[in-house]
Amino acid sequence: MTSLDSKLVGVLGDRTTKVLKDLFGYHTVGDLLHHYPRRYLVRGELSNISELNEGDEVTILAEIFSANSRRLQGRKGNILEVIVTDGTAKLSLTFFNQAWREKDLKVGKQGLFAGKVGVFNSKRQLSHPDYELIADGNDVDAAVEGFAGKYLPMYPASSKLPSWKISQCIELVIGSLDEVPDFLPEHIREKYGYPTLHQALAQLHNPVDLDSAEKARQRLTFDEAFLLQLLLLTRRKELKGLDAVARPVKSSGLLAEFDKSLPFELTAGQRDVSAEIEEDMAQPHPMNRLLQGEVGSGKTIVALRAMLTVVDNGGQAALLAPTEVLAAQHLRTIEKLLGSLSDGGMLGGSDQATQVTLITGSQSATARKEALALAASGAAGIVIGTHALLGESVDFKDLGLIVVDEQHRFGVEQRDALKSKAVTPPHLLVMTATPIPRTVAMTVFGDLDVSTLRELPLGRQPITTHVIPVLEKPGYLERAWERIREEVEQGHQAYVVAPRIAAGTSEDADIDFLMGESSSTLASVEELGPELQSGALKGLRVAPLHGKQSADVKEATMKAFANKELDVLISTTVIEVGVDVPNATVMVIMDADRFGVSQLHQLRGRVGRGTSPGLCLLVSSAIVDTPARERLEAVSQTVDGFELSRIDLEQRREGDVLGASQSGSRSHLRLLRVLRDESMIEQAREDASAILEEGVHKYALLQSELAQIQADAAADFIDKS
Ligand code: ADP
Ligand code: MG
Repeated sequence: MTSLDSKLVGVLGDRTTKVLKDLFGYHTVGDLLHHYPRRYLVRGELSNISELNEGDEVTILAEIFSANSRRLQGRKGNILEVIVTDGTAKLSLTFFNQAWREKDLKVGKQGLFAGKVGVFNSKRQLSHPDYELIADGNDVDAAVEGFAGKYLPMYPASSKLPSWKISQCIELVIGSLDEVPDFLPEHIREKYGYPTLHQALAQLHNPVDLDSAEKARQRLTFDEAFLLQLLLLTRRKELKGLDAVARPVKSSGLLAEFDKSLPFELTAGQRDVSAEIEEDMAQPHPMNRLLQGEVGSGKTIVALRAMLTVVDNGGQAALLAPTEVLAAQHLRTIEKLLGSLSDGGMLGGSDQATQVTLITGSQSATARKEALALAASGAAGIVIGTHALLGESVDFKDLGLIVVDEQHRFGVEQRDALKSKAVTPPHLLVMTATPIPRTVAMTVFGDLDVSTLRELPLGRQPITTHVIPVLEKPGYLERAWERIREEVEQGHQAYVVAPRIAAGTSEDADIDFLMGESSSTLASVEELGPELQSGALKGLRVAPLHGKQSADVKEATMKAFANKELDVLISTTVIEVGVDVPNATVMVIMDADRFGVSQLHQLRGRVGRGTSPGLCLLVSSAIVDTPARERLEAVSQTVDGFELSRIDLEQRREGDVLGASQSGSRSHLRLLRVLRDESMIEQAREDASAILEEGVHKYALLQSELAQIQADAAADFIDKS
């Protein structure tokens, strides 16, 4: 009797069981059966190399003619090029950053190689092909011996456990497997013409033809989307069912005063989103809303209005920011916007006024003590902070609203830590300037309602972006520094952004998206500062800013920059999110290919915030036709954040997309790709929502599948903390 829950021990030998556990963490039959093949070698359908066409999915039988690895020019990493021949012609196989395969792929060895034919430098090639080498003295049939079908599955494997060995294990397991009960409700399965779970697993591992393999893959992909949506919708429903204190808008009070004093009109988008938030907060259930808005679309005001509404109701609001620079800026901006309305408790302050306070990790003991007291007594209606806000010593009198700025830096766990500081569940508003396509939002933030701010405030200036390819056009860099001088002469300010703090440091807290390994040749703030100061930017007022400086230094530098006492800020990505200095008009980003697409978009959003147009120059040594260069070109060609986030997402793996926010469910997602499978995700969401409406308890198998995933997620969570 073998089921998906059976232990592998007993079904397979002890040694194999141990290797599967060590390599992949597999314990059960189900774990192993969810190890899916990447593609299939087709027995008896080998292609001749001389007849390959671009775009074909092919399998060839060939002998290794040569194998050489070399470092890439002008960028990091190495490439292993293997030339194979089958007597009709030669073909190149390439592996990027996998030099270790060189010891596998020895000259003279024969093997089956499978992949999609591409063309590079007008030569045909297979990039990252799957292969099965033939043991010396064996023939082809012996190499695939023990496998009965025509389609030989190729699995993610290692030299310890090659693909054919995995395939043998799976065959053994399937042979002894009892009918697998299907958790997917039958009417859904029939609607899409999917195979049963048992059929799907059997067909994926040993297909009769490629069509049924594809159907099986679709079914299993749908399962992932469906279960994920069901989990997210369940969580959403649970959250909505909780009791919270309603905080409706009052006709008079801080909010009313604030609106009167606002120096500009809210945009239509800001009004709509505010109305949605106000309606949510007027309910006796917690709001759980995501506000995604383009860089510069004015999310802060929207959040501030929500915070004031809560204060008008006698509650407090917490604003969580990802960096100290941003937290400190929020304090300054909010105090400035509120004017005398934030003078609560001060001599001469109005009775309605409240207080705004700041809690960060590196503030002085006295400042912290004072801030903690203001939060605990309720005197501070608005408490701004970094993740220091999550600390145990932080207490609120009546926390009614949590605003999380730049959500992509925080996970569910952090939101929950802050929520636990409220007496009753607080309202929650999370904000992100990394706009994401609808289905991604559904997947990543599926438990939240989504509001979108697409419109920028009137009079916002356009940003022009150019790539400066230093290898091809070294002179352009000189021109970039001249542009900075010109802007400064006109009374404007500039940013220079570098990926590292200091030269040769192996690790920088400020880099969060590095393509490839780190390198000492990258520009650093500490080197660039003196170099520019004594060279290209001589005579200008230049200062460095980075994450390793003390809070006081950072604060003083930002303040000086905001007050126009500095011309140029040389900085790491600490300025990436939220920094708002309208007089800054030009930004030069060094080694721009080291940053992600969305990150570049965020960075350049720091210029063109005032009345003059912005200019962003992306300096890079990436050469033409490389993915790195193409990403930069994409950023220079559009300012549509949604478009850019698609490009960014396409280059990231699912685990990264889902990130910490789905820690647990992540291990259950193997096939699903949020962009490629958009329409499937939408369907799965509809189906999941119908099932939830009907009641999951009507589907016993489904209910226990969900419980299982939730238990795994909880276990993952405990492992991590
Ligand atoms: P983001 O959405 O990127 O966080 P901010 O909230 O920092 O954007 O707003 C960007 C700038 O636009 C700020 O200087 C803010 O004062 C200004 N702003 C916000 N709303 C409006 C508006 N309706 N009209 C004019 N300026 C606005
Ligand atoms: Mg912001």
